[in-house]
Amino acid sequence: MIVESPPQSLSTQIISAIENVIGPGPAALHEPSFTGNEWIYLKECLDSTYVSSVGNFVDKFERELAAFTGSKYAVSMINGTSALHIALLVAGVKANDEVLVPALTFVASANAVSYCNAIPHFIDCDEATLGVDVKKLHSYLNDQTEQIRGQCVNRKSGRIIRVLMPMHTFGHPVDLDGCLELAHDFNLQLVEDAAESLGSLYNSKHTGTFGVMGIISFNGNKTITSGGGGAILTDDKNIAGIAKHMSTTAKVPHQWEYRHDAIGYNYRLPNINAALGCAQLEKLPVLLSEKRKLAKLYKKAFCQVQGATYFCEPKNCQSNYWLQAILLDNDLAHERDNILKETNEKGYMTRPAWILLNELDPYKECPSMPLDSAFSLSKRLINFPSSSYLSGFNSA
Ligand SMILES: *Cc1c(COP(=O)(O)O)cnc(C)c1O
Repeated sequence: MIVESPPQSLSTQIISAIENVIGPGPAALHEPSFTGNEWIYLKECLDSTYVSSVGNFVDKFERELAAFTGSKYAVSMINGTSALHIALLVAGVKANDEVLVPALTFVASANAVSYCNAIPHFIDCDEATLGVDVKKLHSYLNDQTEQIRGQCVNRKSGRIIRVLMPMHTFGHPVDLDGCLELAHDFNLQLVEDAAESLGSLYNSKHTGTFGVMGIISFNGNKTITSGGGGAILTDDKNIAGIAKHMSTTAKVPHQWEYRHDAIGYNYRLPNINAALGCAQLEKLPVLLSEKRKLAKLYKKAFCQVQGATYFCEPKNCQSNYWLQAILLDNDLAHERDNILKETNEKGYMTRPAWILLNELDPYKECPSMPLDSAFSLSKRLINFPSSSYLSGFNSA
């Protein structure tokens, strides 16, 4: 007689998939790794006494980041949020403008818009990329906007929609060709929030280099870190110059004179952070290949799990797999909190995607298109341990 064993609960299946790949744990969601020249460069930086706002490491970091991403210029800043703030200002975002921002993103995307006294206008996302749903947005804008003297005007609010800001969720590139075409058709500037996607390619070209500007974050939980840090990528020399100027108190270069020709910001990246960033950049190719290896192992392990799908990089893209993700089946969304509870109890740090920004108190009144996919995804996504070193367990 064949005795059918009772089906395993979804969280039990998920825990064994994770355990098969990374071992018994515990494991954090994403840890930095310092296995290169970090100590050497930090000591060199301290010995030089140039720890603060200027120094060789800042220049080196910007040069090497530009080279890695294939961007002509990289302008470093104190964090990704400030880089986004400056990028929006330089893109021409003014008080009372609107900026198209995904509802499913980290709050920094919308905060940077608010810092410009502009208004985020929330847009839906696509299940295939977790980012901007270009098709849906196209028909929404067709419906809701008018092109008046080369500007995209929201018919309902009367405000100018100035920028489209796609975000590459967990490192997975969005449909950038679609975004470029849409930006062109509706007179929008494209500014990419590529905070999470250092190392991610769309059609073999680095994310963050498609729009007029893109930004990267080097926060401690990102693929590589400078402690805190960010950068604007651009191919436009003039824009790079303005971004540098605005992020360094708008001081006019002079040997002794303090002349500032605008209200600038003190957003520069300290040399000591850049020193750490330089060492991390050197390790980036290794970290990226470890993360891809980890992704492959997880993908295989999650094939066995009934009720959840491992999220793979979109077509024609190479993702950095910054954060690993699974998507629960539609009818199993109610299991999410129990899965989060049981995996965390087991020592595997997991977490849900962000609460949609239009549901947060400061952003409840903002305009938005119908957000069905974003809403559904926000209830079904789960991130789990993604540090590059975890790929070592299976090869040990
Ligand atoms: C990390 C992140 C940022 C910027 O973060 P900082 O902590 O300011 O460097 C912006 N947008 C998204 C989507 C992010 O994940």
